[in-house]
Amino acid sequence: MEKAKGIVWKLNDLYAKDDDPKIHQDIDEAIEAGKEFKKRFHGKIASEDCTEDRLVQALQSFESIIEGIYRPYAMANLLFAADGRSDKYKALVAKVQDAHTRIENSVLFFALEIQKIPDDKMSEIYASGKLGHYRHYVESLRLFTPYTLDEKSEQIINNKNLSGKTAFVNLFDEFTAEFEWELEIDGEKKKLTASEVRQLLWNQDADLRKRAKIAHDAKFGENGLIFTNVFGNLIKDHSIEMEMRGYESPIQPSYLSNKVSKDVVETMMDVTTQNYHLARQYYRLKAKLLGMPKLKGSDLYAPITKSERVIPFEEGEALVLDSFRGFSPEFGDIIEKAFSDDWIDAEIRPGKRGGAFCMSVTPEFHPYVLMNYVDNLNSVYTMAHELGHALHTVLSSEKQTALTFHPPLVLAETASVFAEMLLTRRLRSEDLDRETHIQILASKLEDFFATISRQTMYIQFELAAHQEGAKRRLSADDFCTLWTKHRDEMYSDVIDFFPEEKWYWAVIPHFIHTRFYCYAYTFGALFVLALYNRYEQEGEAFVPKYRELLAAGDSTWPQTLVESVGMDFLEARFWQGGFTVIENMLDELQELAG
Ligand SMILES: [Zn+2]
Repeated sequence: MEKAKGIVWKLNDLYAKDDDPKIHQDIDEAIEAGKEFKKRFHGKIASEDCTEDRLVQALQSFESIIEGIYRPYAMANLLFAADGRSDKYKALVAKVQDAHTRIENSVLFFALEIQKIPDDKMSEIYASGKLGHYRHYVESLRLFTPYTLDEKSEQIINNKNLSGKTAFVNLFDEFTAEFEWELEIDGEKKKLTASEVRQLLWNQDADLRKRAKIAHDAKFGENGLIFTNVFGNLIKDHSIEMEMRGYESPIQPSYLSNKVSKDVVETMMDVTTQNYHLARQYYRLKAKLLGMPKLKGSDLYAPITKSERVIPFEEGEALVLDSFRGFSPEFGDIIEKAFSDDWIDAEIRPGKRGGAFCMSVTPEFHPYVLMNYVDNLNSVYTMAHELGHALHTVLSSEKQTALTFHPPLVLAETASVFAEMLLTRRLRSEDLDRETHIQILASKLEDFFATISRQTMYIQFELAAHQEGAKRRLSADDFCTLWTKHRDEMYSDVIDFFPEEKWYWAVIPHFIHTRFYCYAYTFGALFVLALYNRYEQEGEAFVPKYRELLAAGDSTWPQTLVESVGMDFLEARFWQGGFTVIENMLDELQELAG
């Protein structure tokens, strides 16, 4: 079987067929339920006479509205992902999105009223114990209460944002979307988009990589005035708002939305910085494997091996199943069901969405996985990754409900990246040829240095830019100097960067779109490695703890969850365990390199 031909999901667990009249009936009912909810509870949650019983009733009604809309919402989006050319599916997605917005507008008051319940009232409600597993949901919403302004001020900020920070974000997007590069490839001049130029960094040809990298970064430098203004103004805007709301530091709102404390994040970042030398060791080794005296800035992604192993779908399936089963027979059974009960759509078809995702609906339904399988190792890793998400959903659906079964953001990639580690373990247990062995180790290590070390470096630059930028207007030179300072702290003299690369800060969209998001990547990846290190130490005894961690969904604070399975986020030792795994893989690679 080539390229997963015939591996198509069956959606009839959700609805009998794609034009089942029940889809439209469910959408209408959910809209009605939203209106009813508003009639019944608006003004009655933040009021003095709100009882624990009323709040529980409201939470349950709210949850059933979410369940009601998510079933048709999932159906529409899955149909559309499987065939994006169909006008019928496009219309269905538009209808369900419209319904979703209408419902959101009806229920918007609920979260705001929960935030406004007076503290003493709230303590009484907590003490009654009646909130049960909803308590954490309520507590998470109320984290922002001290920093929320009165309704009028919130409205003014929202409205002024349209011509303020939103306008700068839009300017960044629209401006960079038009960027084009002209490069000579195989003797021919070609016009390239951003993703096409960036793709060239994975090319075998070192000279082409170099020309692509220099041209790419230079373009951002030529437009430095725009990027300096966009980033500088967003920093200023954030600093004004932080002061109005009474936050202590520019990164504090991110701690609150990630539900992880400052101390935990600082411990993690400190340990990561102390282990920068491992990244340097790896890139020195990479230069050796590529036969170069030293890597240039354009060689970070250069491919190390030339041949690639062909892995047909059935073989990939067997590898992934085996890797889950080797960890826990129960996990193996769950994943086997994903294959036998057709939760997966893996074949390549015209009109199907690219990339991969795992969609969870509600705890009542199993998740669905979409991917585009192309018979190589990368595809097998994608399969393991998405099925890791699916496993997480299945386990958290056991006891949690629609409001609490999605993992918190910092744990969202735990099961998926852990599944990749299990696949790596399974692959390394084979008698591998040297080339494949090097390929597996190098690509995993490169992933880790990109998501752990480099993202921490990004955050350190971003934090410094916010701290400085709140005090004075930063010039283009200031940004470039800050960037190269933090970059060089990580890479030291291991890489020869081109002068144009001082503009790389202007390339990273996260600084513009999702302030201080990058540490979530570090957190997710390093957390999994630290867990994996525990698994290597504890063996079987670790399995039920890990299961419990996944099954808890979003029912309590990440820190409490981790403590309940005997680990501690606040200990540097815990995070260092993650680097032990990296160090071992690096030693193995060093040995293979000879
Ligand atoms: Zn993922």
